Amino acid sequence: MPGGHLQIRDVAKTFITRRTVTQALLPTSFDVQPGEFVSLVGPSGCGKSTLLYIVAGLEDCSGGDVRVDDTPVSDPGPDRGMVFQNYTLFPWLTVRENTRFPMTLSANALPYECTQAEVRSRLDRIGALIELMGLADFEHAYPRELSGGMKQRAAIARALANEPAVLLMDEPFGALDAQTREEMQELVLLVRAHLQTTVLFVTHDVEEAVFLSDRILVMSPRPGRLRADIRVGLPVPRTIDDKLSHEFLRLKREISAMLHEGRDTTGARDTLLRRMFSQDERKPQMNTDEHS
Ligand code: ADP
Repeated sequence: MPGGHLQIRDVAKTFITRRTVTQALLPTSFDVQPGEFVSLVGPSGCGKSTLLYIVAGLEDCSGGDVRVDDTPVSDPGPDRGMVFQNYTLFPWLTVRENTRFPMTLSANALPYECTQAEVRSRLDRIGALIELMGLADFEHAYPRELSGGMKQRAAIARALANEPAVLLMDEPFGALDAQTREEMQELVLLVRAHLQTTVLFVTHDVEEAVFLSDRILVMSPRPGRLRADIRVGLPVPRTIDDKLSHEFLRLKREISAMLHEGRDTTGARDTLLRRMFSQDERKPQMNTDEHS
């Protein structure tokens, strides 16, 4: 695997549409070291996904710059693999074809013809990735034939196909049930132990962030900015049982408390609700005529 040193320098984003101007992200700087797993957590709307999309080259920034191994990036490229929350496999391709797809794109971009040995080694890699994801029995299945967890396994295999230096994951397990989610978390740790890829992971789930990460960056409510940079000192490799350890629970409490501080504590919402309901104290009357 290549280095994978990610540098984010003063990256800011303001969305300007015909009707609104939204300052999503204040100038934000941090590094992710090669092979490091860093999670971004913060309240909904604080700019986590925006930042990830900027790093992926899927969104322009309004200021600052992003570098991978000292090379500035502004467009999507094979040095960064992305896994989205919603299943994004091509429905008309099998698991194997989906996984191979980014390789086809990058091969077209190569300035030379691949040798047979290169093609074979690339195809071997696809097979190995599919096996690592536990999908060997489903490599010829179409996405509609897979469960949600299996679709995300295939999406991770696809994101890793080009041996990206950096893997970007945007709430990849948000739509999965609790048990599948835990299985996927263990799988991510396994992949990471094997491949040593740098990972930038967005989640709103504090427990997931503590379980997976070397470092957790806590963001403030919109406009987003970094509020805390917390090192997770839990030993590796980790297992689900570690979620019950004293240090795990301490970290989870510390980060959850930070996120709660950002919430509306002025009681404005309470006052609004009280006003709405006290204006009309009569309960809605059921039209009994119809029933009589
Ligand atoms: P998070 O991932 O932390 O929930 P997002 O990065 O999705 O937050 O969004 C941050 C802010 O930017 C939100 O207020 C959102 O409404 C706004 N935003 C995101 N994408 C767009 C867009 N394409 N156009 C306008 N505003 C956007």
